[in-house]
Amino acid sequence: MELTRRETMLGALVTGVAASMPAQAKVPLSDKPAPGYYRYRVGEIEITAVNDGVSAMPITDDFVRNVSKAEVNKTLESLFMAPNVYAGPYNPILINTGRQLALVDTGTGEAGFTSSNGINGRLMLSLAAAGVDPKDIDVVIISHYHGDHINGLIKADGSLAFPNAEIAAPLDEHRFWMDDNEMSRAATPRIDATFKNARRVMTPDVLKRIRPYEAGKEVIAGVTAVSTPGHTPGHMSLVVASGSKSVYVQGDVTHAPWLFARNPGWHFMLDVDPVAAEATRRKVYDMLVAERMAVQGFHYPFPALGHVERTSTGYREVLVQWSPVL
Ligand SMILES: [Zn+2]
Repeated sequence: MELTRRETMLGALVTGVAASMPAQAKVPLSDKPAPGYYRYRVGEIEITAVNDGVSAMPITDDFVRNVSKAEVNKTLESLFMAPNVYAGPYNPILINTGRQLALVDTGTGEAGFTSSNGINGRLMLSLAAAGVDPKDIDVVIISHYHGDHINGLIKADGSLAFPNAEIAAPLDEHRFWMDDNEMSRAATPRIDATFKNARRVMTPDVLKRIRPYEAGKEVIAGVTAVSTPGHTPGHMSLVVASGSKSVYVQGDVTHAPWLFARNPGWHFMLDVDPVAAEATRRKVYDMLVAERMAVQGFHYPFPALGHVERTSTGYREVLVQWSPVL
């Protein structure tokens, strides 16, 4: 039976007439968002997605360089999302191999938490909820040098957020963003700001801990780097494999999949080389479809794990269902 609007309103009225109910719930409204972590296994390896919150970017005219703002808004509307704003999720992950505990990407950090009023920079809250002390992280693996991936390396006072961790950074990525000549050639103010931010985060203490890594090699046992350039010049993805199981940790091969996996030809404003980024995106997603391989996406909706299928216009994400079983 279908409820009419009138019947629904009457129902609400009847519920409201429970006069004998106490005036106040025994538990007050918490008024606090929950931290988020989600754990699963890849063979012998344990992965924990640890949420860092979301961005809140205005949809500018160049948000998608080759598509109008009106079309982006139309897409958001079709997905029941508010227009004119992009709420892109941030989801670092922990990889525990049993021998080492690694964190992949760091979110926007303590300074981001303050400046965003806690809508991002939430990693420390999620780590605490997951029972992980930042001091116990052995290695931080960075996918690329955008602020939402590196800013969390340092606290608001500039000290190390993960004081006992080495920092595995893509060799080409580090070279590019730390190169003064490249900085002098920055094509846009946005790219120039990324150069300056990388220098802010790469304090002497951070630089001392950097261990460059390269494609085709293991960063730690069971975690192999794959070159996925375009979003940034040295952008890396990771394949975590154990026994017959594996997951593709894609970094920013796509941003939010409901926009950029479904429309792989859309050129996102933060892609440094949009043509290369699109080529990488199509290559990686064709592989994910063909191999039916699980993908962990930094900007996927939490817990940021799923599969992808092909559609007439590109790809569509099929997200995991919450499982209480590892
Ligand atoms: Zn990102």
